[in-house]
Amino acid sequence: MIHINDNFTKLRASYLFSEIARKVEAFRESHPSSRIIRMGIGDVTRPLCPAAIEGLRKGVDHEADESTFHGYGPEQGYLFLREKIAATDYEARGIEITPDEIFISDGAKSDTGNIGDILAADCRIAVTDPVYPVYVDTNVMAGRAGELQPDGRWSRIIYLPCTAANDFVPALPAERPDVIYLCYPNNPTGTTLTRSQLKQWVDYARANGSIIFFDSAYEAYVSSPDIPRSIYEIEGAKEVAIEFRSFSKTAGFTGIRCGYTVIPRRLCGLSSSGQEVSLHSLWLRRQSTKFNGASYITQRAAEALYTAAGKEQTAETIRFYMTNASILRSGLASAGLRAWGGTDAPYIWLKTPDGLSSWEFFDLLLNRCNVVGTPGVGFGPSGEGYFRLTAFGRRDDTQEAVERIASLRF
Ligand code: PLP
Repeated sequence: MIHINDNFTKLRASYLFSEIARKVEAFRESHPSSRIIRMGIGDVTRPLCPAAIEGLRKGVDHEADESTFHGYGPEQGYLFLREKIAATDYEARGIEITPDEIFISDGAKSDTGNIGDILAADCRIAVTDPVYPVYVDTNVMAGRAGELQPDGRWSRIIYLPCTAANDFVPALPAERPDVIYLCYPNNPTGTTLTRSQLKQWVDYARANGSIIFFDSAYEAYVSSPDIPRSIYEIEGAKEVAIEFRSFSKTAGFTGIRCGYTVIPRRLCGLSSSGQEVSLHSLWLRRQSTKFNGASYITQRAAEALYTAAGKEQTAETIRFYMTNASILRSGLASAGLRAWGGTDAPYIWLKTPDGLSSWEFFDLLLNRCNVVGTPGVGFGPSGEGYFRLTAFGRRDDTQEAVERIASLRF
C-alpha cells in the first residue's frame, strides 16, 4: 500500500463545528418542540444584492451566446475585475496596488490555506490565539506545526495570546517567526488593531525579515477612522505583507465563492541558495499549475459590486448586520456579560460567566436558551473561557436570542 501524508493523522479528529452539530442534533432529538436559534457558524443569511444578481445574469447571458462565450479564463482572474479592485479598494484609498498584483480566487479560505505551498517546509509560523483554524491546520498538514502538546498547542507554532488581559492586542513575539498570520478585524474575537498597533507589526516584520499574512476578510465592517482596512495603509507593508480578501462577508458570496489575494511585486523571499525570489512569481506559478480561475459568471457578479448600486446595496447589508451586532452587544451587557467586538466586526466575543468553561457555557445556552454559539476554546487554548456569537443572523432571531440570554441574568 502507498504511504500517506502522516501529518494529516496528527490533526484533531473532531472538527469544532462537527462537535457543535453533534450536540445540537442530540438536543433536537430529545427536545423536538424547542426552536433552536443558531448563532454559531459564521455564515451569512441575507440574499445577494440586486446588483450582484444582475452581474450573475450578465455572465450567464454571455455564456449562452457564441459571440460572448468565455471558456477557460486567466488563472489570475479577469482584468475587468482586477482593475475595479485596484481602483476602488486601493487607489481610491490612497494605496498604490496595480491590477497585476491582484489574484482572483474562489475565496480566502483556499488562498490562506494554499499560500503555504510557496513557503519552505521548516518555516516557523506565528498565530494569534484564538485563531481562524485554517491557518494552523494547513500548517499541520504541511508538517510545519510539530507535535500537538497536552495543552492544545503545537510544538513548532509560536502562539500570540489575545485575551482580556492584553485587551486582545497581541504582544510582539519573543522568538522570531518567519511568517505571522494576522486577521483584522478579527475572527473570532471581533477585535481590531489601530493603525499604530498594526504599524508595530509591519516594523517588526521589516526589522526581522518576517512576512505577514494579513487576512482582511472583514475589512468592509470597519467604520472607525483609526482602524486600517488594508495592511498597505501602513508605510513599508508592501515589502513584508500579503493581503487576503473575500467577497463572502462583504457581499454574501459564501455560496458564490470569490475572493482575492494581493502580492506586491516587490515582495521577495530567499531560496535555499540565498537568492531573492519574487513571491508574486511563485504564487502565479502555483496558481497557474493548480488552479483554473474563479468562474466567469462569479467574476461578473463580483464586478457588479463595484457599480454605484452595488456599493450602496452592499453597504446596506453591512449596516443590517452591524445593527444586529449592536443589539447583541447591548443585550449581553444588560444580561451582565462582558463582551468585545461588534463595533468594527460582525463577531461578538464574550467572557463566560461564573468561571464556566467555553463548552459548559455552550451547553448552558443550548439547554436553557436553545441558542447555539461557538465555544472560544475551539479557536485555540487562549479562547478557553470565551464564547463567540455572530451578527450574521436574521433580525428576529438575533433579537429573540438576546432576550432569551438576558432572561438568565448573570
Ligand atoms: N478568513 C477568515 C478570517 C474567515 O473568518 C473566513 C470565513 O469564515 C475566511 C477567511 C473564508 O472566507 P471565504 O468564504 O472567502 O473562503
